Amino acid sequence: MDHDKNTNTNTNFIKEIITKDLVDDSKNDAVITRFPPEPNGYLHIGHAKSITLNFGLADDFNGVCNLRFDDTNPTKENTTFVDSIKNDIEWLGWNSDNHLYFASDYFPKLYEFAVTLIKSGKAYVDDLTQEQIREFRGTLINPGKESPYRERSVEENLNLFEGMKEGKYEEGSRVLRAKIDMQSGNLNMRDPVLYRIIHTEHHRTKNKWCIYPMYDFAHGQCDSIEKVTHSICTLEFEDHRELYDWILDELKIHHPKQIEFARLNLSFTVLSKRKLMKLVEENHVEGWDDPRMPTLSGLRRRGYTSDSIKQFCTKIGVAKRQNTIDISLLEHSLREDLNKKSQRALAVLNPLKVTIENYPENQIEYVEAINNPEDVTAGHRKVPFTKEIYIDRNDFMVDPPRKFNRLTLGSEVRLKYAYFITCTKIINNPKTGEVDELICTYDPNSKGGKSPDGRKVRGTIHWVSKSESIKSEVRIYNPLFLTEKPDESTNFLLDINPNSIEVLNDCYIEPNLSKAKPGDIFQFERLGYFCIDSKDSKATDLVFNRSVPLKDSWSKINQLK
Ligand code: ATP
Ligand code: MG
Repeated sequence: MDHDKNTNTNTNFIKEIITKDLVDDSKNDAVITRFPPEPNGYLHIGHAKSITLNFGLADDFNGVCNLRFDDTNPTKENTTFVDSIKNDIEWLGWNSDNHLYFASDYFPKLYEFAVTLIKSGKAYVDDLTQEQIREFRGTLINPGKESPYRERSVEENLNLFEGMKEGKYEEGSRVLRAKIDMQSGNLNMRDPVLYRIIHTEHHRTKNKWCIYPMYDFAHGQCDSIEKVTHSICTLEFEDHRELYDWILDELKIHHPKQIEFARLNLSFTVLSKRKLMKLVEENHVEGWDDPRMPTLSGLRRRGYTSDSIKQFCTKIGVAKRQNTIDISLLEHSLREDLNKKSQRALAVLNPLKVTIENYPENQIEYVEAINNPEDVTAGHRKVPFTKEIYIDRNDFMVDPPRKFNRLTLGSEVRLKYAYFITCTKIINNPKTGEVDELICTYDPNSKGGKSPDGRKVRGTIHWVSKSESIKSEVRIYNPLFLTEKPDESTNFLLDINPNSIEVLNDCYIEPNLSKAKPGDIFQFERLGYFCIDSKDSKATDLVFNRSVPLKDSWSKINQLK
């Protein structure tokens, strides 16, 4: 993949088209793109791809990217969605305050466009029902049938359309349709509906309008009004381009160039607002910002940084062909970013008590730990070490396999930043027989975890002091779906992973993290990256979300199948 150093986006075919357009048309010097979300849900990682592309292209060409809310359906849209979308775009690093638009601001203009079409005999009011319209449209094999209302006079159409606007008719009783060609091989050209009646209050225009333009009548015209030069959209609009061209030509208005690209599909998740809405509404998750959701708010809460998301979007590139990107690539981008940025910490998620029998009672010793080996400027911190500590249960085995290089009875390991210890005794729970505690000795000459005489230990493990650590909750997330392409399932809800969240309540974290704030992200050494939950974490009761494990979880995902 080609990477342009000084730009936000990889070189891609869209960038090449725009570069060529600028050479071909010297007048066309200001590139204007747009990101046009419908405020009927929260943004997801697929939208991030479109945002990175559109805002990135504007940056690359010193142009402008408009944020335009496509708010043409009052039954599904609201200001909560508007606010969350603005917030997410800002979080990604783009400010659109000076280029913020709403399709609803163009309602008067769009109405005028419709009247123009009626006057030139290119649009008519139809009284067929929605079902009849669908039936009359025909199929790819069967030609469509013309509506009996198609030949209404211009005058009658103007009167009826005005009546629709005045609220004289019931919802569903009439629509405005373009008069194109019921025999067209392109179903979108078979007299598509342009306007419909909806008696619902709009979140911005309130009750001013009761007719609303269809997406296909609003979208291209809004782009034209804003003088968008390059209208970049996903592949499913390729078949609509002929219609957009027809409308713009009939109206004789500015004609943006439409370029289609393949939408992002991500394995083990769904990326359709309708499906994400269902997950929220039917309580399969705890909201749009549930850390298991592929929404930007969910990813943020999980610990994803905006840089890692932009990196991911740049890395996957832009293509004309549909494909599914492996979720492990998204995780990889996060790991790469956090490895550089996040402070390290010691934490034990499945505690096993260790008593160091030759260590002084009641002594608290501060050992020095490195904050981030990838960043020398990050410095050091002190971590308390005591006679009783916790290690992670899976760092000890009674009957270890030959290559096990952690703690076993009689073996010596390094406690990171602290001392060498040797396990001398196992104390079992008298009832369950489980290991309850380990008795160890330490070598006082191995301070800082350094070998006193050149002798080697089998491995290095992490630990926390039993008395000087913070008890916390840690939430481990697994993929929300068990199948690779739940979007393709007949009922995607049946593919939901019943074990997508594991809550660990008995975790111990080094005390330095008591000052950490919601949203802070740490690397728990040897375990992964963990983010302080922005909703449920409190100063006295810390809650961490595992953002991503240290190693690629791809092999683990495969095992789920
Ligand atoms: P959904 O199918 O999730 O409901 P949508 O396309 O209806 O998405 P919009 O709010 O209309 O949602 O999307 C705004 C912009 O984001 C559109 O230009 C659309 O092409 C783009 N977009 C949506 N989903 C993706 C995706 N998965 N990959 C890339 N771009 C996307
Ligand atoms: Mg859409």
